[in-house]
Amino acid sequence: MANHVLNGVMGLCVADALGVPVEFVDRAILKQNPVVSMRAYGTYNQPAGTWSDDTSMTICLVDSLTKRLDYSSIMLKFTKWFNEGEYTPHGEAFDIGITTSEALIRFKSGVYPLECGGKSEHDNGNGSLMRILPILFYLQSIYGTGLNEIDEAFEVIHNVSALTHGHERSQMACGIYISVASELIEERNLEAAVYSGIHSAMNYYRRQAGFEDELKHFKRLEKKDFKKLPSESIRSSGYVVDTLEAAIWCLLNTGNYRDCVLNAVNLGGDTDTVGAVA
Ligand SMILES: [Mg+2]
Repeated sequence: MANHVLNGVMGLCVADALGVPVEFVDRAILKQNPVVSMRAYGTYNQPAGTWSDDTSMTICLVDSLTKRLDYSSIMLKFTKWFNEGEYTPHGEAFDIGITTSEALIRFKSGVYPLECGGKSEHDNGNGSLMRILPILFYLQSIYGTGLNEIDEAFEVIHNVSALTHGHERSQMACGIYISVASELIEERNLEAAVYSGIHSAMNYYRRQAGFEDELKHFKRLEKKDFKKLPSESIRSSGYVVDTLEAAIWCLLNTGNYRDCVLNAVNLGGDTDTVGAVA
């Protein structure tokens, strides 16, 4: 049997490391000189293969979930990552998002973990989406497959997002992502699995109070021809909706892991995170 946890985390880590040297580079520049394999230095002057916050925070979540679901424990591990360089390749955290950093400051000052994440519209960067994947494996261990039919599963996803990103839009992006991932793991037809994951999550959000105003932001993803959108209309920024769209668009338009993550990185912008999410 495939080890979905290892494959998922390794896939995320390699894509993150592919994107790190070209983070913030424009798409037009990458078009002329695309990333085709692991590069060194660049944006953060790190050696080849260096992963960033996306992977470190993902491993924090894995490490914590191997014991049990404990929101304080996850936050403590995030703090160890940023302050002490745990879960990093070279003993030092070299990047962190503003919303995540503010959440860690709140946690240090004694705020309850589920209240630490920013809740304003400006707190909708991709910082919780990029590290949410391991919750899928935890939820499957509790609920089995078909977890996108289970309201409690979505509540856990929202809580894990809210440790750093508490706005409904970020929580929803995480919910849609995990729903898609849970369908993909069934190894059915990829396109059918992706759309089924999106639709079952959107159905949940339609009947769930509190998300009414957010549905419109995910409208494009639901469209049958989302896959056919031209690359020019796919934004690969750090905004959570852009990142989710870009990652799913790359997945739908490529046939294997390598092409998918290289495509994602070569969209430019938030390369490491779009790659990691893809
Ligand atoms: Mg990063």
